[in-house]
Amino acid sequence: MNNTKYIFVTGGVTSSLGKGIVSASLAKLLKARDLRVTIQKLDPYINIDPGTLNPYEHGECFVTNDGAETDLDLGHYERFLDISTSQANNITTGRIYQSVINKERQGVYLGKTVQVIPHITNEIKDSIKLLGENNEYDVVITEIGGTIGDIESLPFVEAVRQLKWELKQDCLTIHLTLVPYLAAAGELKTKPTQHSVKKLQELGVQPDILVCRTEHNLEQDIRDKIARFCNVSTDSVIQSIDAKSIYAVPLLMQEEGLDKVVIQKLNIATKELPDLSKWNEFLEKQNNPRDEIVIGLVGKYVELQDSYKSIVESLDIAGVSNSCKVKLKWISSEKITPKNVEKKLSGIHGLLVAPGFGERGIEGKIEAIRFARENNLPFLGICLGMQCAVIEYARNVLDLKKAHTVEIDSETPHPVIDLMEDQKNISDMGGTMRLGQYDCELTKDSNAHKSYGKTSIKERHRHRYEFNNKYLEFFEENGMVATGKNPSNQLVEIVEIPAHKWFTGVQFHPEYKSSVETPHPLFIGFINACKT
Ligand code: GLN
Repeated sequence: MNNTKYIFVTGGVTSSLGKGIVSASLAKLLKARDLRVTIQKLDPYINIDPGTLNPYEHGECFVTNDGAETDLDLGHYERFLDISTSQANNITTGRIYQSVINKERQGVYLGKTVQVIPHITNEIKDSIKLLGENNEYDVVITEIGGTIGDIESLPFVEAVRQLKWELKQDCLTIHLTLVPYLAAAGELKTKPTQHSVKKLQELGVQPDILVCRTEHNLEQDIRDKIARFCNVSTDSVIQSIDAKSIYAVPLLMQEEGLDKVVIQKLNIATKELPDLSKWNEFLEKQNNPRDEIVIGLVGKYVELQDSYKSIVESLDIAGVSNSCKVKLKWISSEKITPKNVEKKLSGIHGLLVAPGFGERGIEGKIEAIRFARENNLPFLGICLGMQCAVIEYARNVLDLKKAHTVEIDSETPHPVIDLMEDQKNISDMGGTMRLGQYDCELTKDSNAHKSYGKTSIKERHRHRYEFNNKYLEFFEENGMVATGKNPSNQLVEIVEIPAHKWFTGVQFHPEYKSSVETPHPLFIGFINACKT
């Protein structure tokens, strides 16, 4: 293909319409037609990245191989497309302004007044076009965060308006809207869509395709009406009906002909139909599980399940690959006490203790781990979950009663989890953790080795604290061993208890490297252990 094609996805009426899933589904359909596709998310907030955001704000922070802390939609992109994204795939207003202000300080603008148009919009346009450089991709999909009409996303929409003008036939805009059903009237209502498109038109952007979220089928007359009011052809009014699983959305979009309209409008020559055989196999298995297990997920943000998005999806995907339905029992770490732990963890086949920061709920996590260790319950601890497993072992097996992580207790006499040397003088919070992909060497015949089926792996990190190697010998002599280490600095990346049925704590985040077509081996290993 000659020119890279650009697709912009905007959202109207309300947030949470699932722009990320629709964008990822379209990308999947195009990739399944052998096109080289990537997706990018533009976020209108002023944070440089979501790394400093509380999960209550925007859910999980997703981490890429290159160590970028990004929006959770990038997790969907990777899981749908089986690709790796990078910092270039997630841009925030804060990052755009930071870059423009840095250039202003360097004198790059040669004495000009620095303004939203053209300087901020040019910076946005450059960030979009960056992915299309070097002929790496046939199609770049850019999802604009926020809802049309928000003040904060105006510069992004203006950049889209300008790019539509510059790129002409090589770009198109998809607008996602809501067609609500009013039960009292017994009708689907098109007015919010009409208004949202009007708003977009006021900003100079005529959408080419409308994807309409709805709880009921859109009959032909409704589609005709939307098309007439919004200046789009009827075949460009695409229904996006609620699906049982997010992974069914690509098929629904295909049935509606979204990919077909897109390739027609962009004049892309591809094979006639997308090859979705692997994807269909996955859905088939998802719909017909042979077994069912319950995993207890202990964390402190259990009321907001988006906080653990990648973990939930990784468990689900790994379960499907095993024809096993994974049910989750959400357990708030703050509510676990030595007295109620047995009851709280009742009915589960395995325990997963989630990543996290800070003191809240940490004693509950430690208590849950003690229960799993003592009762031979399969356990997977991720990042803080692994650190808690180490603290629990130190306190209850090694008899280091006051053992802790210095993150919580800087005066602990037994800092079994300690700050890394190179972290000691850092005062900035943003982007300063150990981030991104690092090598790890596995011990033969460990749970990890059996799961991965190889001894050299690469996994993504996001943490400041580490297993304190001064204690390693003491742990290993007493039954908890390091089965994964960073080969260049010997940092402990995995701990296991070989005498236990399946007890594995990982300092890294396996959930960031799991996709529908490549389920993560460690989650598969954990689920297998829970099943037997
Ligand atoms: N708070 C811990 C650290 O910074 C663990 C972080 C995490 O779980 N992602 O080391």
